[in-house]
Amino acid sequence: MEHPLNDPGEPTEGFDTRAIRAGQRRGPEQEHSDPIYATSSFVFASAAEAAARFAGDEPGNIYARFTNPTVRTFQDRLAALEGGEACVATASGMAAILSTCLSLLKAGDHIVSSRSVFGSTTNLFSNYLTRFGIEVTYVPLGDLAAWEAAIRSETRLLFAETPSNPLTELVDIRALADLAHAHGCLLAMDNCFCTPALQRPLEMGADLVIHSATKYLDGQGRCVGGAVVGDAERVGKEVFGFLRTAGPTMSPFNAWVFLKGLETLRLRMRAHSESALALAQWLEAQPGVARVHYPGLPSHPQHALATRQQAAYGGIVAFEVKGGREQAWQVIDSTRLLSITANLGDAKTTITHPATTTHGRIKPEQREIQGIGESLIRVAVGLEDLEDIQRDLARGIDRLC
Ligand SMILES: *Cc1c(COP(=O)(O)O)cnc(C)c1O
Repeated sequence: MEHPLNDPGEPTEGFDTRAIRAGQRRGPEQEHSDPIYATSSFVFASAAEAAARFAGDEPGNIYARFTNPTVRTFQDRLAALEGGEACVATASGMAAILSTCLSLLKAGDHIVSSRSVFGSTTNLFSNYLTRFGIEVTYVPLGDLAAWEAAIRSETRLLFAETPSNPLTELVDIRALADLAHAHGCLLAMDNCFCTPALQRPLEMGADLVIHSATKYLDGQGRCVGGAVVGDAERVGKEVFGFLRTAGPTMSPFNAWVFLKGLETLRLRMRAHSESALALAQWLEAQPGVARVHYPGLPSHPQHALATRQQAAYGGIVAFEVKGGREQAWQVIDSTRLLSITANLGDAKTTITHPATTTHGRIKPEQREIQGIGESLIRVAVGLEDLEDIQRDLARGIDRLC
């Protein structure tokens, strides 16, 4: 079934080599770039072969809801980058989280989640999973004692993102994994912000890694997709089994775009991180700026952890202007180059006001507790010239004092 020229990628190869070559399946045409298999079904050589494939006695493609060679190449490549045994690609990042929960949890189970997770994740947990008898408790990301206190005998899953959005708070992944395992729970890390180029949670003890491929894996804002990475049993069998039946499947075209994204992932993450660090340092020196949140700054309370846990500090910078909503909006509205949009992980720099957009549905008191005030601005630093990004922000910041 497998073509003899297939190259599963050597685990001993370096990160960039795997990012460019792992999982490639060269076909009889000897194409150099990965092909897009735009097909919904696959043909069998005989009735007996069809029967063997359906029975699971023989490997091979049946139907693209659950296997497609382009999607499989993406899965194999991302698994190789995260250091996981298996990867299941999904239609979106949210579909990856849903597939993980519905395949591994049941009514009566309990989730402990960081309160600083993506807004739709909170919505999915609180407003949908609860309808099916799965309960959730939220805790402050970096407070390990709070995580431990929230764990009950029914707790099955701990869920977190690090660094958090938008304040770039961190959690010690290894410590959280140890805590999860001491209580018989799984740890799922949403690794969207760092990507495996900067942080590999499985190597630090996490059981599952979730991705919104929509962000940095694509890197150029083109496609929506997601993935779950982990061990062969949970991801390769359980999550895959759910996807096979329920069908939140990644399209082959999107998988191809993400494959192209992975080829330059580390180069891009390094460039995003370099510009973000320089921008954060510049922001810290501006009289109109009250505070900058970026793990690469020595002023960040978890700078040492970030240095230990991440290969670089990532592309997200948040800062508070002196004043409130009016001043923050003035900085945002003074930009001409930056895109006013809540998306991130794009070559284009984006700017957003979390309190009235991404975190607008959270009650004001709750937002206050989380530290997401009216003066806060989030910038997802892109790949344009740093001087141009700075000049664009300076238009509004210079007028603040
Ligand atoms: C965007 C995002 C998601 C959801 O991904 P989609 O691809 O938009 O469904 C999940 N987690 C984080 C951290 C994100 O930024």
